[in-house]
Amino acid sequence: MSTLVVVGVQWGDEGKGKIVHLLGKRADAVVRYQGGNNAGHTVIFDGKHFVLHLIPSGILEPGKKCLIGNGVVVDPEALHEEIQFLEKKKIRVRGRLFLADAAHVILPYHRHLDCLHEDRAGVGKIGTTRRGIGPTYSDKVGRVGIRVADYLNPDVFLPLLESNLKEKAPLLQSFGSVSDIRESVLKRYDELRAFLKPYVLNGANFVYENVEKGRKVLFESAQGTMLDVDFGTYPFVTSSNPIAGAVCVGSGLAPTQIDDVLGVVKAYTTRVGEGPFPTELKDELGESLRQRGMEFGATTGRPRRCGWFDAVAVRHAVRINGSRWLALTKLDVLEGVNPIRIGVGYRVKGKIIREWPTDRQLQAEAEPIYEQMPGFTGTIRGLRRYAQLPANARRYVQRLEKLVGAKMAMISLGRSREETIILDSKFPWKP
Ligand code: GDP
Repeated sequence: MSTLVVVGVQWGDEGKGKIVHLLGKRADAVVRYQGGNNAGHTVIFDGKHFVLHLIPSGILEPGKKCLIGNGVVVDPEALHEEIQFLEKKKIRVRGRLFLADAAHVILPYHRHLDCLHEDRAGVGKIGTTRRGIGPTYSDKVGRVGIRVADYLNPDVFLPLLESNLKEKAPLLQSFGSVSDIRESVLKRYDELRAFLKPYVLNGANFVYENVEKGRKVLFESAQGTMLDVDFGTYPFVTSSNPIAGAVCVGSGLAPTQIDDVLGVVKAYTTRVGEGPFPTELKDELGESLRQRGMEFGATTGRPRRCGWFDAVAVRHAVRINGSRWLALTKLDVLEGVNPIRIGVGYRVKGKIIREWPTDRQLQAEAEPIYEQMPGFTGTIRGLRRYAQLPANARRYVQRLEKLVGAKMAMISLGRSREETIILDSKFPWKP
């Protein structure tokens, strides 16, 4: 067993950062395969607080190699800033972090276009982070994108930049003249190009060689399955595919080389931005989960919407990802919540449905059907063994496993790596 894909099986922010950091101890290399610096993994390590947007959290583990795969869109300025932030904290990055030469770059005009889309009135608003991620992916599939390899080569880059500026000029008028925008791209071009160069390699070869040598490689997604551009709450989704299957497209890993998939799932549900969220709690309980779970975006500080666990959505995600294993996070946040509810179906247009619907109207109008369980009291943080959990907490965990069709491999009860119960299971990457 040498490869593991770690995916979010809700709307992101499940706590993947901590889990990847925990499992990273056992990995030789950690690879990120989609998304951009719209994601934010928070890792508490050695009493220090790290928020990583682009670089895999494996970088915090000495000696591990990390790759930003070709499926990621990379803002050279943001990457530069993140590397400097880590180096200031005495984390060695050079020689350990690599960037796939086929990843696409985000340029200032992509950020402008993102703002333009977001500022459109009405239904078009998605609630993006305005970092230019969506427009960069649009350029990629529109075949006008600029890859890292192109960015490093001025003979290729400069004409591509000109043709892009020309094509986008009518849309960019409100952000200044074409020459202003060109200037904003070129201002730090030489510096950033020189800075990036030593990190760049062929990502697919990196993955192939590591797997070929039998090294343990962990692949991490950003966001979550319900934000997947194909399987999530379209159009209120991210512009890439966080699902496990996308690891092949986003890193070059061969499909026959995916050994296992671990889904990360929160004990309740959160989402940021607009879009359907059937089990959302708009009351005091929702507010109390937000405060206790510190549910504020790592990238934007935006308050996350909070609600009950949605077993329909998670089962949909577990199936698509083939995530036989789950890491349940933030169970501690439910301490003292009584009763606890779990969404097990929806009532919509006079019908009861038990599968996640694709129709956006059904998603928006779905009224949850709940199952209710007695809550648990007392402090569970600090517990190390499953048997020490209150009986009602164990019942809740078992019910979730049954409803979503996957086995728990670990239960997280706090922000640090130590605050985790490792279950007695056959999970091959057991820490
Ligand atoms: P990610 O994008 O999936 O990595 O999630 P984030 O890092 O944005 O959000 C998870 C937040 O929850 C971070 O602040 C973590 O430190 C915190 N966290 C992770 N696991 C737990 C847990 O089991 N209990 C509590 N209370 N906080 C946790």
